[in-house]
Amino acid sequence: MTRLMLSAIIALSAAACGQPNDTDVVNVYSARHYDSDAAAYARFTEETGIEINLVEASGDLLIERIRTDGDRSPADVVITVDAARLHRAEQAGLFAQTDFSTIAAGVPDRFVDPDGYWVGFALRARVIAYAEDRVDPAEISSYMDLADPRWQGRICIRSSDNAYNQSLLASIITHRGEETAEAWARSVVANFARAPQGGDTDQLQAIHAGECDVAVVNHYYYLRLANSDDPGNQDVADGIGLIFPAGESGTHVNISGAGIAANAPHPENAEALIRFLLSESGQRAYAELTNEFPAVDGTAFDNPSVRDLMGFQADTLNMSTLGDHSEAARRVFDRAGWP
Ligand code: FE
Repeated sequence: MTRLMLSAIIALSAAACGQPNDTDVVNVYSARHYDSDAAAYARFTEETGIEINLVEASGDLLIERIRTDGDRSPADVVITVDAARLHRAEQAGLFAQTDFSTIAAGVPDRFVDPDGYWVGFALRARVIAYAEDRVDPAEISSYMDLADPRWQGRICIRSSDNAYNQSLLASIITHRGEETAEAWARSVVANFARAPQGGDTDQLQAIHAGECDVAVVNHYYYLRLANSDDPGNQDVADGIGLIFPAGESGTHVNISGAGIAANAPHPENAEALIRFLLSESGQRAYAELTNEFPAVDGTAFDNPSVRDLMGFQADTLNMSTLGDHSEAARRVFDRAGWP
């Protein structure tokens, strides 16, 4: 019997039992839990025949779990949001070094780890949301403007233990230094309408409720409300405008990223999945279902609301610098008294 026939029989019997052959599996450890991911994974399995075993946990727990499992970890691909968290995972030794030059050929360099441990596959902008009936958007052109006393008692933003805020502050530290970043954070705290609470959607709802006039949120939370079938959500978005900071450093951008696990039992399938995430079908899923921006330049997708927001002046920092300044950002938040 030839090897080919033998492997065909094994594949058939695996299919007959409804159990994927162990070689046709990829174990994905993900901190994301969106419909777009489920859709992307389903398309991946359809296209490649490789089944996905999904393990979900919040970002830092996920890192901890893989780290403690060590070389017994079944993880093949690690997926999480936020560049600083990817950096922490990298420092914990979770990723295998990978040559992304062809895998991520369409992704701008700044979204690919220079050491080859992870790659961004979807982008998000952290923008300034404002109440259209109470704020003249000409008054804000950069994050720095949020320090102005005119916003006293008018800003809503989530707490400093949130990764999105830490990476925003890390970008400010990178561009302007720790001292300026601290003075900025202190002034923003002085302008809080209320103590930080809730997630980004809660800040948008607080604008709608008149509790504050300005908030800092990731763009897709706004689009999720605006594109919702629920008239209540549409109503929240209707009265809110978005400012994409321009000028010197532009709009802060962060990534959802993936890397091949250091002890991946199925490294080839892991690579196949990352290639898929960066393929047109993968990229489409994120732009169409979670309103994220594609990481691959020139991706075709069908979501006018995302398309309409594109073309803003994005910060050109390499994502790896956010991780480099993440510790400093936490210290600055502490010193500035940002809860
Ligand atoms: Fe989010």
